[in-house]
Amino acid sequence: MSVNDNSGKGEDMQALKVAMLGCGVVGTEVAARIQNRADGLAERIGAPLELNAIVVRDASRPRSGIDPDLLTTDAEAAIADADIVVELMGGIEPARSLITAALQQGSSVVTANKALLAASYGELMSAADAAGVRLEHEAAVAGAIPIIRPVGDSLAGDRIERIIGIVNGTTNYILDQMDSEGWDFERALTTAQALGYAEADPTADVGGHDAAAKAAILSSLAFHAPVSIDDVHVEGIEGVTSEMVETARDQGFVIKLLAVCERVASSPTGAGLSARVYPALIDRNHALASVRGAFNAVFIEAEAAGELMFYGQGAGGAPTASAVLGDIVSVARRKVLGGRGQYERPFHEDSRILPISSITTRYHITLDVVDRPGVLAAVSEVFADEGASIELMRQTVGDVDDDGVQHAKLVLATHSNTDSTLRKTVDRLIDLSVVHAVKSVIRVEGQ
Ligand code: NAP
Repeated sequence: MSVNDNSGKGEDMQALKVAMLGCGVVGTEVAARIQNRADGLAERIGAPLELNAIVVRDASRPRSGIDPDLLTTDAEAAIADADIVVELMGGIEPARSLITAALQQGSSVVTANKALLAASYGELMSAADAAGVRLEHEAAVAGAIPIIRPVGDSLAGDRIERIIGIVNGTTNYILDQMDSEGWDFERALTTAQALGYAEADPTADVGGHDAAAKAAILSSLAFHAPVSIDDVHVEGIEGVTSEMVETARDQGFVIKLLAVCERVASSPTGAGLSARVYPALIDRNHALASVRGAFNAVFIEAEAAGELMFYGQGAGGAPTASAVLGDIVSVARRKVLGGRGQYERPFHEDSRILPISSITTRYHITLDVVDRPGVLAAVSEVFADEGASIELMRQTVGDVDDDGVQHAKLVLATHSNTDSTLRKTVDRLIDLSVVHAVKSVIRVEGQ
């Protein structure tokens, strides 16, 4: 297939050969759109796309809407013949070797593989740079939401100070159901699995690892410095209880699993970058608090632009295919026009990743205490000793236990303290005779 170009030269543009690696949830949607929207894509690109090969593990299995003649298990041959390689198989290997081979032969690559990029962002970007081609990855963070290009291009002249993202739909669905329906964690997780939001093995989502991969990619891009998933502090939502959600609601907050990427101007260990994922309290008036169900959102604070929020569907075959196709059009246009397009050295800032112990946030601590005079004084004394400061305390009457002891719930909201100070303080609170249990310790973000 060919289309007339608009250059006035009257030449027919040669078709651009596309090899797709993977034909699963996302790949099927991408292949269908390349085929069904061929004319519109050709107009937008200036040349037609020709899907030449689709690499899968099992080429004999029929796939709805996919021409069986395109299916192959020979990835090397498929890549060798391609102008553009679209990697949608996932995982580290063989994806990394195949992407590297494609880049080295001069083909631009589009990938949605967050796990691979979070592990090898610098290495792969350098390989693309050395070959003078592009490695586009809009779909690797927050599915359909345009976030990679806004961070990497639109805000390239600004200075991004902080990104706070709800970048995992499964955990947002679970926490939202716990908040809005009063469900416990197990019920919310089981329903998420039944609806297809959560995998049979939900560890990557629930444990925060999927969000951590996205935090690494966003940090690398926003701060022009190499941040790998191993640099990201990760806590999952497994420990979030109905009681924590209820206490948060009573205080005007909602619990969200947040990916926080920020420049830290000063900390006990100096200036640097922080990338972290954990469940945290967000004020119900904050824009991120309104992100419901399995939706994603990324909130950016930039020096000149101020606050920006990007919102939409973070996963699913069709939404993710939208981002992949946008990247395919982008690299195909460059191929037609010539040149590599925008260029930025992968990393040019030399920034340290700070340990979580140096990071300063506000906290809410919920204690089960014995309801008797002197409790508040004992608790306050521990805080004073450790140099931690309390913003407010709220005590409510609890139950009488089997021994006839009256309990109370004490919620302490702290001013900003470092993580290490807070840990030491909590360790000492546990030892107080008036403290029956530390029910929860949770950070406050977005203030
Ligand atoms: P998927 O449904 O599991 O599909 C994977 C495809 O890759 C299958 O067609 C599989 O072949 C093929 N494949 C896997 N390993 C292979 C190998 N070693 N050799 C040849 N083919 C291989 O995955 P997906 O959900 O579409 O995800 C694809 C990528 O998009 C992943 O990197 C994922 O993180 C990313 N992503 C997905 C979503 C989403 O909502 N699903 C959202 C954002 C990003 P067979 O069909 O023969 O098994």
